[in-house]
Amino acid sequence: MADAKKQVEQITSQEKDFAQWYTDVCLKSELCIYSGVKGFVVIRPYGWALWENVMNNIDARLKKMGVTNVAMPVLIPEHLLLKEKEHVEGFAPECAWVACGGDDILEDRLAVRPTSETVFCDYWHDVVHSYRDLPQLLCQWGSVVRWEKETRPFLRTREFFWHEGHTLHATPEDSLQFTLDILYMYEDFIQNDAAIPVLKGKKTEKEKFAGAQATYTVESIMKDGKALQSGTSHDFGDNFAKAFDIKYLDKNNKLTYATETSWAISSRIIGALIMVHGDDRGLKLPPHLAPIQVRVVPIRMTDKNNVDKANEIYNNLKKAGIRTDIDLSDKTPGYKFSDCEMKGIPIRLEIGPKDIEKGVCVLVRRDTGEKLDVKLSELESKIKETLVLIQKNMFEVAKKFLDDHIDVALTKEELISKMNNKKGFIKAMHCGCEECEIELKDETGISSRCIPMEQEQLSDKCVVCGKPAKYEVIWGKSY
Ligand SMILES: [Zn+2]
Repeated sequence: MADAKKQVEQITSQEKDFAQWYTDVCLKSELCIYSGVKGFVVIRPYGWALWENVMNNIDARLKKMGVTNVAMPVLIPEHLLLKEKEHVEGFAPECAWVACGGDDILEDRLAVRPTSETVFCDYWHDVVHSYRDLPQLLCQWGSVVRWEKETRPFLRTREFFWHEGHTLHATPEDSLQFTLDILYMYEDFIQNDAAIPVLKGKKTEKEKFAGAQATYTVESIMKDGKALQSGTSHDFGDNFAKAFDIKYLDKNNKLTYATETSWAISSRIIGALIMVHGDDRGLKLPPHLAPIQVRVVPIRMTDKNNVDKANEIYNNLKKAGIRTDIDLSDKTPGYKFSDCEMKGIPIRLEIGPKDIEKGVCVLVRRDTGEKLDVKLSELESKIKETLVLIQKNMFEVAKKFLDDHIDVALTKEELISKMNNKKGFIKAMHCGCEECEIELKDETGISSRCIPMEQEQLSDKCVVCGKPAKYEVIWGKSY
């Protein structure tokens, strides 16, 4: 067991240093590794398999909503970026630029896409002419580059993977409705597949996306009490249509500006999966997204009968459509168990010569650590049932954590004191002024996370300035 113990000891405990624990888990679970390019990581096969499951689950939902996938150029000419003023001001500082093509110096330099609103708009300017061309419901899966100063695997890297959805509609009502439909879809994916509870709401003016009329967000709490913005959906109204001259002939033959949305979930969601569910033994992955749902571990590798039986179980489970693998390496059982835990595999099946005699194997749950003997004849149904239970339990545990870490404050002093003494979110009223948000952020590092969809009237005064409150805001420290 010595080597197994060592593997667990190699990760820092959450209690001791949460940030270091996070990095240790990313690397030891083989999700990713630092690359030779500063600020960029290699997403390893296990990490990519996890991301593929995220993609597949979201893509299936998008297709049901009528969204189709497209591919836009990876480079954006500077003159296109400059067309929408707020947008370029938001993104220009973090653009990576291509200034040469071969030996030629380019007159109009090219940005490696930081996001693709401008290229989608340029495309629509060319192809949308009539109300019959609307709506345009498009999505692009790929990566973008933003020249971040400080980077952390999955949370902030200079290149990250995502889908960026872009849609064009006939009326402001249509674009707002689609923005909200996407928000609800994100909530459904994050809660039901990622087993992460979310708070959904609207961003304040200060926190909204560059160039948007309104940004909606789903926010989640990590185990260190910080917020992670897990998905965003933006309503642009006709801001970009005006900048890019996207007009269509409506049914009355009148030229009208179209309205637009964009929305995204990125590979940051992997960071959320790590920080919401993980513990001092490593990752804990929800069954809906886990690349491997069950790993079979034969106990005595020198016993042919033991290995054959383990292989038989492995093949049967695979045939039953359960994502299963088998550890046939010559490492010790202790090391193998520890590796299952590190990788967050929901179920581990241990089978040794004594189990075979009794016609059972040992099923170990990663979420609770619970061990049970299961009859081999009932294994498939028991596993299917347990995967459902694990998915449900992981959500409930995370939901309880979220509920236990939301407090209320009526004054600024109370807000600051609670933020300093307890990790988590605070609900408090806000007047809507940017100055109050800036004051809080400068003094305490707290930012507004969202104006929740379900509003409560906690008091009638702004928690910062005491002026009449417009709405309730959820405040917190964020990644
Ligand atoms: Zn105020």
